[in-house]
Amino acid sequence: MKTSKKKESTRRPQENNAEGNNEEESELCPGFKDVDAFVKYGLGAVLSATKASAGLPQAGDDYDFYRSFPGFQEFCESQGDKLLHCMSQIMQHHGCRSHIRDQNKLTGVEERFDLVVDSNDVILERAGILLDEADGVNRSQNPVMPAGFQPPKIVVSSWNRKGSSSRSETFRLLHAKNVARPQLKFKEKVDNSNTPFVPKIFIKPNAVKPLPSYFSNKQIRKERPEDLDVPAALADFIHQQRTQEHVEDMFAHPYQYELDHLTVPESLLSKPEPQMYKPMAETKLSFIDSLDDLVTLNEKLCRLSEFAVDLEHHSYRSFLGLTCLMQISTREEDFIIDTLELRSEMYILNEAFTDPSIVKVFHGADSDIEWLQRDFGLYVVNLFDTHQASRALNLARHSLDHLLKQFCNVNSDKRYQLADWRIRPLPEEMIEYARADTHYLLYIYDCMRAQLLESNHGQPGLLQSVWNKSKDVSLKKYMKPIYTEESYLELQRKQKRSFNTQQLTTFRLLYAWRDKLARQEDESTGYVLPTHMMIKISEELPKEPQGIIACCNPVPPLVRQQVNELHLLVQQGREMPLLKAEIAAQKKKGLTPIKKAEVTLFGPHDTSRGSEIDRPQDTADEVPVKEGILFSEEDHKMDVDEQKISSLLAPAKITLFQEMETPADQESLSVAQTKARRIIESFENPFRMYLPSTGVHVNKNAKFDPSSKIFEISKRWKLQSIEQQQKEMEVKKKSTEEAKQQAKKLSEERTKAKQSYQESLRNITTVRQQAAQSKDGAKKRAREGSEVGEVTKQSKKLMKSTEKAQKTEPPAKESFTPFDYAQSDLKVFDGSKAKDDTQFDPNRQAQGFRKKRFPQGPKNNSSAGNRSMSYLSGKSNRGFRHNWPKR
Ligand code: AMP
Ligand code: MN
Ligand code: ZN
Repeated sequence: MKTSKKKESTRRPQENNAEGNNEEESELCPGFKDVDAFVKYGLGAVLSATKASAGLPQAGDDYDFYRSFPGFQEFCESQGDKLLHCMSQIMQHHGCRSHIRDQNKLTGVEERFDLVVDSNDVILERAGILLDEADGVNRSQNPVMPAGFQPPKIVVSSWNRKGSSSRSETFRLLHAKNVARPQLKFKEKVDNSNTPFVPKIFIKPNAVKPLPSYFSNKQIRKERPEDLDVPAALADFIHQQRTQEHVEDMFAHPYQYELDHLTVPESLLSKPEPQMYKPMAETKLSFIDSLDDLVTLNEKLCRLSEFAVDLEHHSYRSFLGLTCLMQISTREEDFIIDTLELRSEMYILNEAFTDPSIVKVFHGADSDIEWLQRDFGLYVVNLFDTHQASRALNLARHSLDHLLKQFCNVNSDKRYQLADWRIRPLPEEMIEYARADTHYLLYIYDCMRAQLLESNHGQPGLLQSVWNKSKDVSLKKYMKPIYTEESYLELQRKQKRSFNTQQLTTFRLLYAWRDKLARQEDESTGYVLPTHMMIKISEELPKEPQGIIACCNPVPPLVRQQVNELHLLVQQGREMPLLKAEIAAQKKKGLTPIKKAEVTLFGPHDTSRGSEIDRPQDTADEVPVKEGILFSEEDHKMDVDEQKISSLLAPAKITLFQEMETPADQESLSVAQTKARRIIESFENPFRMYLPSTGVHVNKNAKFDPSSKIFEISKRWKLQSIEQQQKEMEVKKKSTEEAKQQAKKLSEERTKAKQSYQESLRNITTVRQQAAQSKDGAKKRAREGSEVGEVTKQSKKLMKSTEKAQKTEPPAKESFTPFDYAQSDLKVFDGSKAKDDTQFDPNRQAQGFRKKRFPQGPKNNSSAGNRSMSYLSGKSNRGFRHNWPKR
């Protein structure tokens, strides 16, 4: 075993790089030969800093005591200053706001902390972009090659060459320059439409509860509104009516019932004897890329009591993402399935995957469960997730690397994790890497079960909890990212950016453009326009198309292609009128909105002056210009409380006929403003007695002094105006009532029309359905005939498994007959270019239908949609912002 371990530890061949010899190149940065040297030094420094900070006296008594010594106090202050200075410099270097050292005590710790968090985000994002660039992700995109593969190229980044020892490892980033789009080969077109995901399943092996008719009835399922031979609006309507009754089924987990009733057998709750893995070198590896081999594999798996599974995925050049590879390991063999090739056939594995008597071991299956549903219609019944086990055991880290090291003493690294898994043929190293992800997993599963029992004094409670958690994972449902009018706000919130009206409008428009294009071109949103570039464009609002290009480095191909379109969107954003507060804030920052000079004095007949908010549009599309500023620490984002700024900077104006401020208004006035107001109020308005009480400025006191003339006049005017108002109200009331009645009449007529329309529709539907049914019936009969025909070995096998299912699960007996795919040669389902293009309320997916249906309601999946959404941005996000389960 020892020797095997040794072998295993070198399972990822390190390249003795040919490039290692030209080391005479200049140093990476002063004192450091290469990145590794720098990183090593940096890590050391960070580590000692962390240690030192942990050694500081604790907040509370300790600290307070020390602090009573002036020497300590001084030291703290000077060190604190140094640190803040250092942080400020780093932040400034990255162009972040940095008044962290600001002695102004008004900026609370919280705000400063926010500053640090924001800056961290910016710096990390920048690092991500640079890594992407180094990775070649953003290299100028060559046109996609037609079918026929390019040999994958291995890129050794020059900045990462090892210095002295030429034998040492090189960080290898694998990417292929021109990978043929696998989507082109897919038999079933990818459905990127903005409609909720509907499970792909159409046959349900191991069913206890039969598959709802919606899924098994191809007629309903595959029918798209556009295929109906009627006008579009009518087609949509018919389609909706037809699918309405299936809505609940459509969004439920197809194996919900089976999973809810799944119990862990005693044998899996008792202590196992860990079964050592076979050395990889002595293990047979099969690469599966044909249907025949897949069927054979499925048969093999059905005879086992457990196997391990993992997937590799690609998300950059696809809107929803693509599962590129499935690795399966049994105790004896390893398999690698080309899931790009067998995408439409993978569903046959449901026979093994949903068999409750076979344990499927995954590590961190959260995403895998979703990808299996999305791409293949595969479900997992009886899952054991070693990531969940690692959590229950409270291990130091929960990644697969860690488990491999701990249980198998295998040194693995995840450097291929983000490789482009679409590459074909797969390079040897990538195959070896993928294989290792499952090869050891069954042994780890044994060890972890044993440990779970051990650590719980032999009681099965903890182990049981892992089984339960794993079941929750397998109950996850895939949620398609749905675009709504508010989607952009969610992203904006996540980015913690505050935009003015023009910027926000632009951001919204760019977001919509990006989403639409990404769906249409089947690219990730990150490929179409990375979020950080979208933010930059929104912030800068470039006047020229060239300015948009300048916001992007490197320029995404689709941005370059559609720059004029984008320019129009930015223009549209710039045309939005700015709010008063925004204008003020811009002034503060040295951006002067070009705007007609405020009219500060005007006569009583001057009607040109409207309220600030409904300022005519023409002033708004004049663009703010940045004034020359020499020293500005200010960020060009507007993060300071807009309210405060606006009240501080509200243009001073003297008006003669100003109406009293409402108390609410007064509350928002600064002390200076209130004073100014009082002074103004103390001036008497010579015209006041001729003016109606509304819109007139009267001395506050005079107005309420019954002895004053003003009181009288104002009362008279008030009475008059009240009368006037009452009259007006009455007129209004009358007219609204009339309008209401009219509307009522109209709606009555409309409902009548609708009723008769529906009646007529019903007739249409029945005719169409009759036709469809008779066609369907004929087909079915034909198929049944052929199926009864010859019985091959495979179908016998399948019949056997059907018998098994029927024996153990009586309820399915009458209603469920497993589809004999061996007989069908899968042609039956082939003509399926149709996608499930349904016209649903996009929110349906999220609004748990399951809850309605299964009131005992399983675990929250609400984040699933978000997660997959955020995942879309793919590599460019590099997982900073989302919580990838540790692998
Ligand atoms: P694994 O289970 O570790 O083999 O990961 C499966 C797939 O998940 C990989 O092929 C990647 O596409 C994706 N993936 C894993 N970790 C990350 C991450 N940190 N960021 C982005 N994608 C990831
Ligand atoms: Mn995985
Ligand atoms: Zn993997």
